[in-house]
Amino acid sequence: MENSDDMQGVLRRIKSLRFAIGTGPRATDRRSRLSYIPDRGAERQEIAEFFEQGLHFVGDWHSHPERHPVPSGVDDKNIAECVRKSDHGLNGFLLVIVGTWLPPGGWHVSVHDGTDRHRLNAQCTGRD
Ligand SMILES: [Zn+2]
Repeated sequence: MENSDDMQGVLRRIKSLRFAIGTGPRATDRRSRLSYIPDRGAERQEIAEFFEQGLHFVGDWHSHPERHPVPSGVDDKNIAECVRKSDHGLNGFLLVIVGTWLPPGGWHVSVHDGTDRHRLNAQCTGRD
């Protein structure tokens, strides 16, 4: 995938994603009011353990104390570095930020390709 037009095309074809397992948060992560810096060593170990079980890391999530969360500069920097420095076969990683308002408006969901963030339109479809 070479540009954001290609990325947008792929994202339009994704109807839903389901996540059953997540890593963190950990006591050794660093948090401020609007940023979250995971303990990368602990995270790498968790990712390796899940990978052994056939489960792949696809991105990060954390919460913000705001109704409609917006990624901070630190969030963008962290996820971009994660995409660029990790050994993976994906075109980008998900960034999910859970705010204080109900989803979908209270969630920020995007894919970062290492250079740019591409916002997704999250929808709630209920459980099935
Ligand atoms: Zn954040």
